[in-house]
Amino acid sequence: MSALFGNYGKRRAQIVKGRGTIVEDTQGKKYLDFTSGIAVVSLGHAHPAIVKAIQEQSEKLWHMSNLFDIPGQEIVAQKLVANTHLKYAFFCNSGAEANEAAIKMARKHTGKHHIITFEKSFHGRTFGAMSATGQSKIHNGFGPLVEKFTVLPFNDVEALEATIDDSVAAIMLEMIQGEGGVNSVSPQFAEAIANICDDKGILLIVDEVQTGIGRTGTRYAFEQTVLKPNIVTLAKGLGGGFPVGAMLGTADLYDTFGPGTHGTTFGGNPLAMRVAETILDHVFEPSFLANVQEISSFFVKQLQANLPTNYTVQGQGLLLGIGCGDTEVASYIMAAEEKGLLLVGAGPNVIRLLPPLTVSKTEIDEAVEILKTILQ
Ligand code: PLP
Repeated sequence: MSALFGNYGKRRAQIVKGRGTIVEDTQGKKYLDFTSGIAVVSLGHAHPAIVKAIQEQSEKLWHMSNLFDIPGQEIVAQKLVANTHLKYAFFCNSGAEANEAAIKMARKHTGKHHIITFEKSFHGRTFGAMSATGQSKIHNGFGPLVEKFTVLPFNDVEALEATIDDSVAAIMLEMIQGEGGVNSVSPQFAEAIANICDDKGILLIVDEVQTGIGRTGTRYAFEQTVLKPNIVTLAKGLGGGFPVGAMLGTADLYDTFGPGTHGTTFGGNPLAMRVAETILDHVFEPSFLANVQEISSFFVKQLQANLPTNYTVQGQGLLLGIGCGDTEVASYIMAAEEKGLLLVGAGPNVIRLLPPLTVSKTEIDEAVEILKTILQ
């Protein structure tokens, strides 16, 4: 009889070991992990540089309160904002917390309350982040939600233009909706958002919790668009499995988060920062990002060449999806697991493909072979 709440539903394989893209269960069965712990383990499991960073830092100092200066935060913040229009970082422990910080920042900075978000978005499970999320199944039973979030259809320029008024503090969105079906922001929508934010002085919050830190082939996914967000939220890949979140912001936001306005006990502790620094030293290398782009093109080509044409390949970089029309994907995911490939869904009808950013072409070929068998 389990002593755990049942909020994760029926659990799957019990994984106890991992190295690179390969993980192993309690029975010694090996799997290709094309979930990366849902876009987290970007350098693969047990990457030697991360293991070393944790070992070294854990012998020096794990935790100090944010009452004291934590030098690692400055190092990681500088790396995150270098060569961007962003200037400052705040560190926390998760994506939801980064989004809470963003929502608080937007309200306090503008003095307005209204935030526009989009259908099928996912921003986390805390009250603010959940209220921003455009999926009723996430809200069910937890109301009343935080007020003043308006959820609009995604990629719908007309609906957005019709809703904008002087009460709007911010527009908040993902560049690719990860949980909601691997749906990318269209170039026209990005253009419209950029114009509206410029014209009306509305803040743009881009939730890069899933798309950030190299996942789409660039440091941040917004870099592939015309958008220049005022606020960017990060987590997942930033810690590679160690809980790290961050909110980045432009220079003009500095005074809004003055002393005592916001905080966290664990966020940005020395151990977390040492891990994040090590991740960024790898992932933000131009050659690493170029390799993600090359591997992604290879993956897309192999999927298109091997899957029946009724499936669509969606997404960018190594945040890819196989759209299965109206077919539910849960049984495909279970079948792939039987054959040694771990996958995750994105909504009911899309299979999400999120291998570590270090995945090899051979591993991709093996995964495509399994996908071909189960989808035919
Ligand atoms: N934002 C996005 C885009 C996400 O994909 C997620 C998690 O899946 C979150 C926020 C919430 O992150 P966390 O689970 O770390 O709170």
